[in-house]
Amino acid sequence: MLKVCKFGGTSMADAKAIKQVADIINADKDRRYVVVSAPGKRFKEDIKVTDLLIKCYNDVLRNGECKETFSVIRDRFIGIVKDLGIDFDINSVLDETEKEIVENSSLDFSASRGEYLMARVFAAYMNVPFVDAKGLIRFDSKGRLNESYTYDKTKMKLEGLEMAVIPGFYGKNSQGNIKTFSRGGSDITGSLIARAMGADIYENWTDVNGFLVCDPRVVANPKVIKFLSYQELRELSYMGASVLHSEAIFPLVKSKIPVNIRNTFDPSQEGTMIVPNDYYANVKPDIITGIAGLKDFTVIYIEKSLMNEEVGFVRKVLSVIEQHGICFENIPSGIDTISIVIASKALENGVLNDVVSEIRESVSPDFIRVIENISLIATVGHGMATKAGVAAKLFNALAKENINIKMIDQGSSELNIIIGVSNTDYEKSIKAIYNEFID
Ligand code: ASP
Repeated sequence: MLKVCKFGGTSMADAKAIKQVADIINADKDRRYVVVSAPGKRFKEDIKVTDLLIKCYNDVLRNGECKETFSVIRDRFIGIVKDLGIDFDINSVLDETEKEIVENSSLDFSASRGEYLMARVFAAYMNVPFVDAKGLIRFDSKGRLNESYTYDKTKMKLEGLEMAVIPGFYGKNSQGNIKTFSRGGSDITGSLIARAMGADIYENWTDVNGFLVCDPRVVANPKVIKFLSYQELRELSYMGASVLHSEAIFPLVKSKIPVNIRNTFDPSQEGTMIVPNDYYANVKPDIITGIAGLKDFTVIYIEKSLMNEEVGFVRKVLSVIEQHGICFENIPSGIDTISIVIASKALENGVLNDVVSEIRESVSPDFIRVIENISLIATVGHGMATKAGVAAKLFNALAKENINIKMIDQGSSELNIIIGVSNTDYEKSIKAIYNEFID
């Protein structure tokens, strides 16, 4: 059995947390390759090391140096090394890093140093080899991940090692410079290492008990989702649920490697298992798996008799949207109606008016209406496809609370039902759906 583990920023935030991480790794000899994030927040007002490093980059741009901001990072790592009680010359590594940040003046290089420093320190503490991600993860000349190169190189470099500590979040581009993933990207590093090494499981250790059925700011203490399919994860992440980076799943799909979300601060919890879609039948899913949502959408509702017989109608409408460089979220449609759902932000500064008049000109609709301040709420679950009456139950729950549903879209995968409600009904709707389906 081979487990690849990734520990997030709060798990590496201070020596106390880091010692817990070491205990977790030492408790299971299968945990062999460990990816770490930069130290995150220790308390609410604290600043993540990555954010401090980004500030260092901006300081250098402005003043040619970053002494003051870097001293905060310096103190943080010196404190960690001291509290871990290791004999590691952190001062020299920090001096070298500060010099490189000043001389290199690249945002990605600066931002990546939190992971680099943390992995150096943690490898010393665990007394296992440090393997730099710049030798494993490779981006091509267009900045895209070069997967096959990454898998080959990683396998070659790690195969002979019993254990290794690897910094998350970055790799090297085709010019040999450091390039980072988007924020939270250490999750992707972990997935790539898991795939390259053919891991049996990818453990992603964070500071929560797993993926929650819905946002805990909306429903107090929601249940933890025990099993989630890759596909459900995509739907929930897209709609705003964040525990794992939304791109972290892609490297795992082909090899069907499950991800286990675990809590460093409560390792007795089993967490959430994210499994390939076809394993799902074996785990007897609940009717619904999760509820996620986003606020602030605009719906452009278009009506035209015999729209269904007019060749190119939808294309003409969508080309107006396309010409403005806008993405749409959903397009629920009926025989004579179509609604285009767009994030309101994309329609600011007069764009909405332009779009509506151009649609009028282009397809001469009988009626066109704009509905603003809409929230989208996705209720997601494989079980929904096979259970009769799920939609009825959902709509009943909302009706009981007098919530006016302004739009309904059941995706063709039958994996989710998306409803549009007014922003002011957002919290109330999620609570109503949660209470109806989850006991
Ligand atoms: N340290 C990086 C960030 O704060 C990457 C990560 O933690 O995954 O986004």
